[in-house]
Amino acid sequence: MFQTSVLASGSKGNSILIRSRNTGIILDAGVSMKRIWEALDALKVPRTLIKAVVVSHEHSDHTRSAGALCRSLKIPLYISPDTYAYSSHKLGRVDELLIYFDAGTDFLVGDILVQPFRSSHDAVDSCNFTFVHDGRKLGVAIDLGYFSKLTLLKLSEVHALVLESNHDLQMLMEGPYDWNLKIRVKGEHGHLSNDQAVGLISQVLHPGLKNLILAHLSETNNLPEIAYKVMNDYLTSIRSDINLMLANQYCHTPLVDV
Ligand SMILES: [Zn+2]
Ligand SMILES: [Zn+2]
Repeated sequence: MFQTSVLASGSKGNSILIRSRNTGIILDAGVSMKRIWEALDALKVPRTLIKAVVVSHEHSDHTRSAGALCRSLKIPLYISPDTYAYSSHKLGRVDELLIYFDAGTDFLVGDILVQPFRSSHDAVDSCNFTFVHDGRKLGVAIDLGYFSKLTLLKLSEVHALVLESNHDLQMLMEGPYDWNLKIRVKGEHGHLSNDQAVGLISQVLHPGLKNLILAHLSETNNLPEIAYKVMNDYLTSIRSDINLMLANQYCHTPLVDV
């Protein structure tokens, strides 16, 4: 068994469950602990399965309850040294629970191999990830301004993928954000647009990739139906039978097989 559920995703908070039969990992905890408990309960995932919290970068929509979750469950917090330096004030007391990782160096949590790699984003040490268990690989890339050769290499053999589809470029540019924020969001250190998500998929799609979950949708600069349609139109045009889903800010996805 190897499954994932996006517990919550969007600019107001992100959290993703990755689980095997014996190990659960929470990747980012950017929503309240209550929300995470409710989602785990609804998915019938016992809290005792969760063996670690992993933090991708210091932004509050990824770190909000990470420290509290680790203290509550008495489990380690995996974080990069620079990310910790920039988020320790938000995490609270986690000294005894800290385990540092570095982008590019794999580590094991239980029976799941975690493979962090750098992403281009306006954070001090932002990471995307692949997770490997029993020969199956999950990719998670939800905060990145553009995809690099490294991104494509790392995501080229995943069997399931959680991918950012943050904004519709026209909605962003015609929307209410001030000019500097528009430039930040669409820049190389911002977020992937719906069209960029298609561009990435067009380069990593292979017959073994079965499930695609679009995530980190902007509530201001995107609509779920637009993000879905842009990706679905592309997948239909190439007759892909991949299972396409959307993550949601307020509701968890089902458990999806990797
Ligand atoms: Zn971010
Ligand atoms: Zn984010």
